[in-house]
Amino acid sequence: MRTVEVIRTIAAVREWHRAAGDVGLVPTMGALHGGHRGLAERAAREGTAIASIFVNPTQFGPNEDYRTYPRAESADLELLAAAGCAAVFVPTVEEMYPPGDDTRVVPGDVASRLEGAARPGHFAGVCTVVAKLFGIVRPARAYFSHKDFQQLRVIQTMVRDLAMGIRVVPFEIVREPDGLARSSRNAYLTPDERRRAVALSRGLFAARDEWARGTRDAARLRATVRVVASDAGTPEYVSVADPVTLREIDGHAERAVVSLACRVGRARLIDNVLLGMSLEELARL
Ligand code: AMP
Repeated sequence: MRTVEVIRTIAAVREWHRAAGDVGLVPTMGALHGGHRGLAERAAREGTAIASIFVNPTQFGPNEDYRTYPRAESADLELLAAAGCAAVFVPTVEEMYPPGDDTRVVPGDVASRLEGAARPGHFAGVCTVVAKLFGIVRPARAYFSHKDFQQLRVIQTMVRDLAMGIRVVPFEIVREPDGLARSSRNAYLTPDERRRAVALSRGLFAARDEWARGTRDAARLRATVRVVASDAGTPEYVSVADPVTLREIDGHAERAVVSLACRVGRARLIDNVLLGMSLEELARL
């Protein structure tokens, strides 16, 4: 059986890194599922892989689910070992934010809309913890799925702007057989909510089908998503935005990320489809 080395301190990661050479990092918040597994397998295929598990308090708002976010360390370690990760960094909050911690990485315009507008401070928390993980692990590559599309763009932009010299590798969205994007927060859904939640991906797929039939009008794509997704609830937003800037598109779209956020019961779910642009093109930004 494969095993994964569990590392809990920054000093021990540095020690591990000395022998490991070039590594790929997979940052996660744990409660791992098939999406994380795909991401970790990809990283392991491309070299020595280290994952991190850290529920980062600075990226949660005061009324969000930091305290109740699902935690499942032993199952997570098994999944990461099976995926081929060599090591996993599992720090405490005190290790990451010791007394006196006083610096935040604040992203710019690309973080201002959508999730950034809905969750003030969220992306500053994400950038701060990811920059810190990068400083600790010093990876050659870092793996992020476009499930969190804006997060991926915010991190690509941070890596470019701060000249971090890390290759950010975008990864696909792993879905349940019915289309629902895998998410640790799906665990909050009751059976009835789980049945309704599939309307979110159905709405996005309906827009993707319209795109395939030639529709390029952003308003029409938004309307299609709204109609189909309404079976799950009323989305907080339905967006048809430029995949590079995340600015809403008016009129004709050459390429687009169609995204939504919707509360289904206790879970706030997000999902998206990327149209007219490949992950390879996204990787080259
Ligand atoms: P999280 O644990 O939610 O912070 O996510 C850690 C990483 O896993 C991020 O890069 C996410 O985008 C990615 N991820 C989350 N859900 C999925 C999914 N359904 N498919 C692929 N990757 C995912």
